[in-house]
Amino acid sequence: MVKEELWQSVLAQVQLGISQANFATWFKNTEIVSQEENRVVVSVPNSFAKEWLENKYGKTILKVLHSLDEEIKEVKYTVGRTELKISKKAPVVSLPEAGQLEFQEFKVDKETNLNPRYTFENFVVGPFNELPQAAAWAVSKNPGFVYNPLFVYGGVGLGKTHLLEAIGNEVIKNFSQKKVKYIPSEKFTAGVVSSIKNHEIEDFKSRCRSIDVLILDDVQFLAGKEKTQEEFFHTFNYLYEKNKQIILSSDRPPKAIPALAERLRSRFEGGMIADIGYPDYETRVAILKAKSQEREIDFSEEVLNYVASNIQRNIRELEGALNRLSAYQKLNNKPPDLEIAKSLLKNLILSPAKVATPKKIIQVVAEFYDLKERDLLSSSRKKEIVKPRQVAMYLLREDLKSSYPFIGRKLGGKDHTTAIYSYGKVLKELETDENLNDEISLIRQRIFSI
Ligand code: ADP
Ligand code: MG
Repeated sequence: MVKEELWQSVLAQVQLGISQANFATWFKNTEIVSQEENRVVVSVPNSFAKEWLENKYGKTILKVLHSLDEEIKEVKYTVGRTELKISKKAPVVSLPEAGQLEFQEFKVDKETNLNPRYTFENFVVGPFNELPQAAAWAVSKNPGFVYNPLFVYGGVGLGKTHLLEAIGNEVIKNFSQKKVKYIPSEKFTAGVVSSIKNHEIEDFKSRCRSIDVLILDDVQFLAGKEKTQEEFFHTFNYLYEKNKQIILSSDRPPKAIPALAERLRSRFEGGMIADIGYPDYETRVAILKAKSQEREIDFSEEVLNYVASNIQRNIRELEGALNRLSAYQKLNNKPPDLEIAKSLLKNLILSPAKVATPKKIIQVVAEFYDLKERDLLSSSRKKEIVKPRQVAMYLLREDLKSSYPFIGRKLGGKDHTTAIYSYGKVLKELETDENLNDEISLIRQRIFSI
């Protein structure tokens, strides 16, 4: 069998066993470059794909090759030949403030509002985002007909915007006639408000209704915006009935968005809901490697491992760390060693702000449930207030090991028995209430990200 055929057969077999999204991510631009005696050499676009093929799919690939040609006993992977399709333009580096680096390689498209920098090609997939990525990929191949709406949620800096925009960019690539629009929710709200003010609401409506793929980012910001919600509800229905695709993101599941009209909530829940969790260590390293490669800098394994072990909850922060290290490399013409990296990243990594405090817990819980801190501290028995108050007590106990009398005092001078009861109640509900589990993990995520 010639090389090309051999590899095609491998791809055909592998494809059966893994998701389409993973297949596209890891096997794109791969080929057999040589076959000598019992060894096959496969070229891959970057060292990052190399690692994944070796570690994750190596056994399967060898098995398939061996079944096609008994002689083959070994597969080697080499980086090169085919290039990853990332812009090769050197990034324009500017130092706007306090030595922060900014890469301004790409321009946002005026028509679609999409930033071409966000693609599936440079979106790293791991266990924490596999499901939303696969759903997003499916939507981009068949907009309007698979998951509608697609609702992606997860904490700050974990890739929601990247993934949503990647869908948009992919749709444009595949269906050039489709009208795609990316809108941050605050912009949508501003659009509704100003078009009402200027008596142009009909115009606004018809513009929204001509869209084939509508991407609305951060819909938690629609909370409490009644007029905007109403307008969006009608737009949603109109598009949905015409089999137009709607894609939404939020920092929390629809159930946990406060002050959202029930009818809109049920629309949001009517398609596919997928959440992005925290990246595991391996994926964090993979992300760092992919991004170093984009910047064309070879950081040592040691340095990347250090960053991956110390920044765990936010991919944007991983990038921030790399930017600092890149700045050092640009100025000194050599990548930093571990000691230098540690000192460059000191205030990012050992930031004292990243620990939970009673004050922060109360502040974040109040914010999350769209309440004022003083509501939590009040003696109100309203359901909308009692539950958040119990959650705050639970977190004070669970995460800070605070004493019950202390917890009671912190929440507006309640008795310690109230704190005991609240803690127990939340603990028990967590066993069965999935939403509550989600809410608490999102709250924690925020506590640790500010
Ligand atoms: P969110 O919208 O969830 O706050 P973003 O989509 O803005 O997060 O992601 C923050 C940064 O991290 C972006 O620069 C994005 O490109 C990068 N990023 C997030 N997830 C990934 C991923 N899986 N692979 C590569 N880069 C990622
Ligand atoms: Mg975002």
